[in-house]
Amino acid sequence: MAGVYISYPFCAQKCTYCNFASGVLPLDLEKRYLEALKLELRGTDWPWVPETVYLGGGTPSRIDPADLAEILAVIPGKPWAEATIEAAPGGISPELAQAWRNAGISRVSLGVQSFVTRELARTGRKHTAEIVAAEIEVLRAGGLDNFNIDLIAGLPGQTEASWNASLDWVERLEPPHLSVYMLEVDADSRLGAEILAFGKRYGASDVPSDDAIAGFYEIAVERLAASGVRRYEISNFARPALESRHNLKYWRREPYFGFGSDAHSFDGATRWQNVESAAEYVGCLEQHGSPVAACTATDPAETFFLGLRLEEGIEADWSSYQEGVERFQQEGLLEIKGSRLRLTPRGVLLSNEVFAHFV
Ligand code: SF4
Repeated sequence: MAGVYISYPFCAQKCTYCNFASGVLPLDLEKRYLEALKLELRGTDWPWVPETVYLGGGTPSRIDPADLAEILAVIPGKPWAEATIEAAPGGISPELAQAWRNAGISRVSLGVQSFVTRELARTGRKHTAEIVAAEIEVLRAGGLDNFNIDLIAGLPGQTEASWNASLDWVERLEPPHLSVYMLEVDADSRLGAEILAFGKRYGASDVPSDDAIAGFYEIAVERLAASGVRRYEISNFARPALESRHNLKYWRREPYFGFGSDAHSFDGATRWQNVESAAEYVGCLEQHGSPVAACTATDPAETFFLGLRLEEGIEADWSSYQEGVERFQQEGLLEIKGSRLRLTPRGVLLSNEVFAHFV
């Protein structure tokens, strides 16, 4: 079963921790990008009917509802089993929720990151916990009760008490799905670059230690499990049967087509990727060229580093990796349950070490 991913790299602000190819871009480019997206979608020969659609970014909730409806109308298979739009809290009205539903959207992923105003303000996000709570009510009243909340463990100034305060809000709001990401530190975000340079801007000197962040993650796992929200992937938690059907395709290596700048595609054997820059992408489509920048055959080790992210693990022939599997079993990072190989709870915390070995 295949999926469709649409990338929309435009945002109202550039958050300090963000290392995606997204941000504040010219309005004129945003209009041309929408037309380029429509061109790319209309020029596609569909070898299958998609089961899921996912609009990510960036901030696709900025897309004008008429444009969104036009874009989704090009994709076969409506109503899809799941169609998600990522949204920045702060602009969701009953009218917008209705327009999303009319266009075929059935799930909303909210970029909350924290419910603590002080933490949000330091990252550049404008919303508050109260705004998130009110907008979740709007979504539920509009029939969009399948939603996700994103949280980040490791924001500047975060403490165990403030992390628990965010989790208190999660318990009150009872989301069907939650994603918990640990802060990524690399030179592609302003905060990451400042941390690597041992600077103080963006609260870099107030970022919790790695041990503290791992502790926050473990607290989340325990509290969510106690409230019936089960971890099914390293960063993703859901109530029964409410896992993200689209994102499961990435870890189960099912096919998907990506549209827009920096979007990736996979047909079961080959992966390809569009150009990263939105301006370059628009230029390619306006000149009736291909936006594809790179094409690669898949690596057999993918089965390990994608499938092992899932709580269910993998059911594959791992005989050519026997030595590594045995070593990690002895170290208590991998375990075999029936015919499946999976990470232990400790292995989840040290998963990068396991994946690095197989890659
Ligand atoms: S975190 Fe989301 S809203 Fe913030 S800049 Fe990155 S993509 Fe845009």
